[in-house]
Amino acid sequence: MTKEPETLIEAIRYFTDPDACLNLMIELRWPDGVVTCPTCGSAEVGFLKNRRLFQCKTKHPKQQFSVKVGTIFEDSPISLDKWLSAMWMIANDKNGISSYELARALGVTQKTAWFLLHRIRLAMQQGSLDKLDGTVEVDETFIGGKARFMHRDRQSRAVNGRGPIGKTAVIGLLDRHGPRWS
Ligand SMILES: [Zn+2]
Repeated sequence: MTKEPETLIEAIRYFTDPDACLNLMIELRWPDGVVTCPTCGSAEVGFLKNRRLFQCKTKHPKQQFSVKVGTIFEDSPISLDKWLSAMWMIANDKNGISSYELARALGVTQKTAWFLLHRIRLAMQQGSLDKLDGTVEVDETFIGGKARFMHRDRQSRAVNGRGPIGKTAVIGLLDRHGPRWS
């Protein structure tokens, strides 16, 4: 798919494609394109195409891992398409979205929607999608839009849009110890 989602319907449809979700997550978590093992940090990682799992080449527990491992999405049975659609909605909504609106749009219960909203907003507040220590930070940049959730000190940092939703909202995960995009 080459067209970027511009409306909610398009975004939800877009994220029903598991490869689209996978590719976006890879881009968010590993902006330089090098997937590293969340357990040992090795970059010697293979990909099991059929299961959409990565496999570290070093022998240790949790050798296989999904893109959710190590993020706020990890402990939740909620599928990645719902998480990413919810993030898209929060990033693009001008007036602040309610859990009722989110529930209707995603076809989940209001309780689930509330959980999604709460966790995503918390992640935005703490500036990290990482559930453990703050080794990665989330940096939202809205290209041609409002930077509602962006921390003031980051608003000046211009980041070029990348990836499937680049023009609308870029939620860039920047490695705190690595090179920045700006
Ligand atoms: Zn490993």
